[in-house]
Amino acid sequence: MRLLLVGPPGAGKGTQAQFLAAHYSIPHISTGDIFRSNLKAGTELGNQAKAFMDRGELVPDSVTNDMVKDRLAQSDVANGFLLDGYPRNTAQAEVLRAFLEENKTPLQAALELSIAPVEIIKRLSSRRTCRACGAPSEAGATKCSSCAGTDLYQREDDKEEVIARRLQVYEEQTAPIIAFYQSEGILLTIPALGTVPEITEQAITALSNLA
Ligand code: AMP
Repeated sequence: MRLLLVGPPGAGKGTQAQFLAAHYSIPHISTGDIFRSNLKAGTELGNQAKAFMDRGELVPDSVTNDMVKDRLAQSDVANGFLLDGYPRNTAQAEVLRAFLEENKTPLQAALELSIAPVEIIKRLSSRRTCRACGAPSEAGATKCSSCAGTDLYQREDDKEEVIARRLQVYEEQTAPIIAFYQSEGILLTIPALGTVPEITEQAITALSNLA
């Protein structure tokens, strides 16, 4: 299965990606996670990305595209992959399409998680992230529901002033890729409402109808 998730920040892409990747036994490739782990490790890539991430802006395409191509060239994607947070604009979508076509492994589905903006702001501003495993928790939680780690923090870009900018960037730059995948005939849309297992189930049902 070769698929990607698209949807605004806070739609639950990371959480759903984890469950779907486990269900289909494919690697979960999150560009945001790769950037954050590079930031933490103080690599050159992390330093390049930091200023953009702190402002809620997109890291330049040249940096991001090369990073994704390197990742997709690794052996664990032989049975497929789940991209989360990439592509974030139509230029990235074009680069991805060309790369996958060259490798004769075209994308099979773009799964859109759809959610109203008011719900996003509520979710993101109360989101805390586990420093150990990166899983999200609710504000007020004392330990991570995924790994039981106790170091939960608020991502710089989950602070209210940055959220507004991220939503604007999503509307202006990322939302157009939905039409791109619709015209490719591989768009599937589900509402990102309900419990986590309910949304996962809807996603699996939608994906099971793939030709
Ligand atoms: P995320 O965890 O997906 O919300 O990503 C966090 C931040 O990483 C974004 O706000 C961007 O600054 C950067 N980022 C992640 N994915 C991309 C991408 N595909 N293109 C450019 N920047 C990205």
